[in-house]
Amino acid sequence: DRGKKAYNAAVLLSKTVPFEPILLASSEDTVYDHIPDFDPASIDKDAAYVHITTNNTIEGTSIYDLPDTNGVPIVADMSSNILAARYNVEDFALIYAGAQKNIGPAGVTVVIVREDFLNDQPQLSAMLDYRIQADAASLYNTPPAYNIYIAKLVFEWVKNTIGGVDKMAEINREKSGLLYDYIEQSDFYTSPVKKVDDRSVTNIPFVTPSKDLDAEFVSEADKLGFKNIKGHRSVGGMRASLYNAFPRQGVLDLIDFMKDFEARHQ
Ligand SMILES: *Cc1c(COP(=O)(O)O)cnc(C)c1O
Repeated sequence: DRGKKAYNAAVLLSKTVPFEPILLASSEDTVYDHIPDFDPASIDKDAAYVHITTNNTIEGTSIYDLPDTNGVPIVADMSSNILAARYNVEDFALIYAGAQKNIGPAGVTVVIVREDFLNDQPQLSAMLDYRIQADAASLYNTPPAYNIYIAKLVFEWVKNTIGGVDKMAEINREKSGLLYDYIEQSDFYTSPVKKVDDRSVTNIPFVTPSKDLDAEFVSEADKLGFKNIKGHRSVGGMRASLYNAFPRQGVLDLIDFMKDFEARHQ
């Protein structure tokens, strides 16, 4: 759904800046329950970039192996799994990510952009012009110093306390594996993401056999302290968001509650 939003924003921008947005692939017709395929040869070699979302937060799908884009540079919205999975920065022309999931407080956006990908001619407002931001060492406007300081502490935590992004990714895979394995063996819960390779280690949606039971699950879970487990209104059901800061014990506690709920409502 974020890819669609990015596309819609591009369509809007194309009314004032001359370029042609193309919708390459979408799984909108099945409520984005899988990562859509496309033929790399269908991408014009002269295209400026291909936009992807590495983790679809609402739907619980992820792209861990980057697609073949026919040599066209990749721009990625990495908001919900930056620092949670291993990506090679040099595989991207541009990465952008809101800080609020794995990095720190809302109000900071990280942009990692290849030097040659910065624009030569100003075409956008200064806020969106990364050339201006880069030339001003990210200090063109007053920076949110507190948020950046917290981000620094989180970077140090990932690097020094956890042992780096690879170690973080390993912890996340194990953590999410516990929940996926439980859902898989259960006759009660199901994952709406059928293609196993598309499943996110960060956001794990699941449903019970009925909407009424989903509502009951959310209500009981909330009382026990499992906050924000209700799925996004566009997909319904439940969603466990296992961001970097979320502890393994929390997953074990959730599984215990799921077992108990299943036993009572089977
Ligand atoms: C959270 C998120 C954003 C930012 O959304 P907000 O409206 O700022 O919360 C953008 N893209 C993705 C993929 C996200 O998960």
